[in-house]
Amino acid sequence: MKNKIVVLLKFYRGELNPFDGAALETALRLGGEVTALAMAPPAAADAMRSLTRLGVRAVLLSDRAYAGSDTIATSYILSEALGRLEFDAVFCGRQSVDGDTGQVPAMLAQRMGLEFYNKVMQTDGKSLCLRGGETVFPQKRYVAAFEKICALRFPSIFSSAGETEVWDNAVLRLDPERCGLRGSPTRVVSSRESTVGRRVCTFVPPSALPSLIAEGLKKTPVRAEGTKIGEGLLGRCAFVGGAAEAAQKLARGAVSLDVSGKTPEEIAEEIASGGYRTVLWEGTDRYKELAARTAVLLGAGLCADCIDFSVREGRAVMTRPACGGNVIADIVAESPVSMATVKTACRGSDLMFSVGRGGLCAKEEIVALAERLGGEIGCSRVAADSGAFPYEAQVGLTGKIVNPKVYVAIGISGAVQHTCGMENSGTVIAVNSNREERIFGYADYGIVADARELI
Ligand SMILES: Cc1cc2nc3c(=O)[nH]c(=O)nc-3n(C[C@H](O)[C@H](O)[C@H](O)COP(=O)(O)OP(=O)(O)OC[C@H]3O[C@@H](n4cnc5c(N)ncnc54)[C@H](O)[C@@H]3O)c2cc1C
Repeated sequence: MKNKIVVLLKFYRGELNPFDGAALETALRLGGEVTALAMAPPAAADAMRSLTRLGVRAVLLSDRAYAGSDTIATSYILSEALGRLEFDAVFCGRQSVDGDTGQVPAMLAQRMGLEFYNKVMQTDGKSLCLRGGETVFPQKRYVAAFEKICALRFPSIFSSAGETEVWDNAVLRLDPERCGLRGSPTRVVSSRESTVGRRVCTFVPPSALPSLIAEGLKKTPVRAEGTKIGEGLLGRCAFVGGAAEAAQKLARGAVSLDVSGKTPEEIAEEIASGGYRTVLWEGTDRYKELAARTAVLLGAGLCADCIDFSVREGRAVMTRPACGGNVIADIVAESPVSMATVKTACRGSDLMFSVGRGGLCAKEEIVALAERLGGEIGCSRVAADSGAFPYEAQVGLTGKIVNPKVYVAIGISGAVQHTCGMENSGTVIAVNSNREERIFGYADYGIVADARELI
């Protein structure tokens, strides 16, 4: 019997999310019956149609009522559509290039009673090899979220295109109150240019780098001023794992929830019966999955990768970089329970050399310099996506938060999604060939030079 696989696809500015492309290519290589399922405006029908040339069935969920759906509403719509399809497994990308919350796959699994495997590197259809080396054997239908392990093939020139099936709400007959903006508990209440972490930059020649590093390593890190304790939050506040400091920004008496060994159902019950209206989760993979599953059970708005919190009119305001642009957004949840996953800093070396797209040309030299000085290597998302460095090295919104004594950013433009991951570092030194780049506004010292001249 052939494997039946549904692959979830997301388009951003007309382009297929490359992580989803990898999931689709993997499904095609397994040789089963493949259905591509996307939720997008009608304009995506052409892109879906071109995928039929690969021999897949293309189903597009498109209705005005679905526009503006957050992850809770999206997972509801997708789960209802999946309920109409026969499948053994659901494949998708681990993240999308725009929203990048990574919540939808876990939410879908929760809604449909499926197993969920994240960061899948390889599969033969029976087992899944996960990033980190673990191999798992699904026991029942499952959702697999793939890394960007391969590129989607091109169709043969001899192939012909089929039709895209468009399913609107006349087909799906979903409750409009649970779709689109109406069904989405999270709301952006304000957005602004991100200026957190701004510094006054002194420009120096490349030859100053060694002495600046030595000086920066001698400095005692200035502890950010104590956390301002939030006041006026309505209802009780709880946190899971290492999110205590973030929770204090909302309420003095935030309570630690022990979720170890508990099912999402048990956790949801504890939150409901404990009267908690705000729950913050440390942003580890495990907690992110549990938060997504619990949010589905509670109908709670869940905001991913938050970097700051405050209280407004009794409600928790959750702040995170908005996708695209150097903007941060304040988000509230209009559900009885508000939840967020929190970016927390990881402990690392005192010195970090972080490589961006512009530093890749001097990659070997930078790595050798870091080794010589006992420094750690970090990188931007572009550098991680290029395969030059592992994702574990990525600094920023979807990577890690770091605060070494000295952070040297080489060939990094300084997008807010990157600077939010390094802005609490001690001394920041930026090396970039373009003096106009944003990174210099977030550095204490700037070196305008080609990365190759530096070393
Ligand atoms: C939802 C979402 C989440 C994201 N999460 C992250 C994240 O966690 N981390 C992250 O880093 N990004 C993240 N991004 C991506 C982010 O927006 C930027 O696209 C990314 O940080 C840019 O990487 P970069 O600076 O290496 O590349 P670019 O922006 O392409 O910058 C390259 C820089 O190199 C300079 N340069 C070029 N050649 C040289 C040379 N020879 N010598 C010196 N300098 C040179 C250029 O002047 C330029 O400033 C995210 C984006 C989204 C939408």
